[in-house]
Amino acid sequence: MNPPLLQVNGLKTYFNTPAGLSKAVDGVSFSLQPGETMAIVGESGSGKSITALSIMQLVPEPAGYIESGTISFDGQDLLDLTWEQMRSIRGRQISMIFQEPMTSLNPVFTIGYQIREAMLTHDKFKGESATSRARSLLERVGMPSPNKVLRQYPHELSGGMRQRVMIAIALANEPRLLLADEPTTALDVTIQAQILTLLRDLQRDTGMSMLLITHDLGIVSQVADKVAVMYAGQIVEQSPTNTLLSNPLHPYTQGLIASLPSRSRRGQELYTLEGVVPPPTRWPAGCRFHDRCSKRLQICDSQMPLATKYDDTRSVSCHLYPAQEMAGNQERLK
Ligand code: SF4
Repeated sequence: MNPPLLQVNGLKTYFNTPAGLSKAVDGVSFSLQPGETMAIVGESGSGKSITALSIMQLVPEPAGYIESGTISFDGQDLLDLTWEQMRSIRGRQISMIFQEPMTSLNPVFTIGYQIREAMLTHDKFKGESATSRARSLLERVGMPSPNKVLRQYPHELSGGMRQRVMIAIALANEPRLLLADEPTTALDVTIQAQILTLLRDLQRDTGMSMLLITHDLGIVSQVADKVAVMYAGQIVEQSPTNTLLSNPLHPYTQGLIASLPSRSRRGQELYTLEGVVPPPTRWPAGCRFHDRCSKRLQICDSQMPLATKYDDTRSVSCHLYPAQEMAGNQERLK
């Protein structure tokens, strides 16, 4: 197997808050191969977005900081880079798109200016070639009337069109890794499907890797090769997408899947996962999911389960899968 493009190991990202120390990301490890798409799934407050911001080194300072861990991109630990070095990687090699494009687009500049600016900042395309590439990027993301859109301002476009612009900007410098944080959440269902199809096609055509952050397990099957499920700042299960959807191991993953509308049988009430993710300043002792778990054991209240390799492609953190019951394929993950 090729070396991973991105390897995150033991990442801990904390925040000092008036309510105490918030351990938003608390020991996250995963890897992403070149050309692979991985989804990080979980409810609000699980630490997904902070994981992505940590990779970009855009954690809001001074309250937020990376406590420990490594983020290796193409063999280089991003946490060792200076701010200037990291700036040149952002946008050029790693790009990010967010949920609400209006917060990322500047309302006083035309779309054409903003796409060209993204390219010029990184010195790859200049002058006329930048304008012509801006036009072809808009075509590539399926924008109708790209010549007109180049002259328009963000407020003149619909939400779906603005998200296409953001994707065009993210792709402007042909990044090797795209981080997409809830890229379709603010859009209506039809446009969501179009944007997901677009992202999947672009990923396939360009060969870039993609990390998709989402709270919606329903969209994962359309895009991702594999999935990491996050709960309370930790990854509780990692698996290839199809395996995860057909045979989830962790009770939290099982609950998320059972509550998908398409999984409910006709005439039956939709399953609801009771409770909410606890605040990151007060993670419970033991398994952080224990007060919501219908399969909880006595040990779960006091002892945190470690990430355990279940088979060649899956890992899980849950006392239901103890070492002695998986002789031969048990390995504590770092
Ligand atoms: Fe449930 Fe215990 Fe597994 Fe946590 S460790 S998910 S409480 S069974």
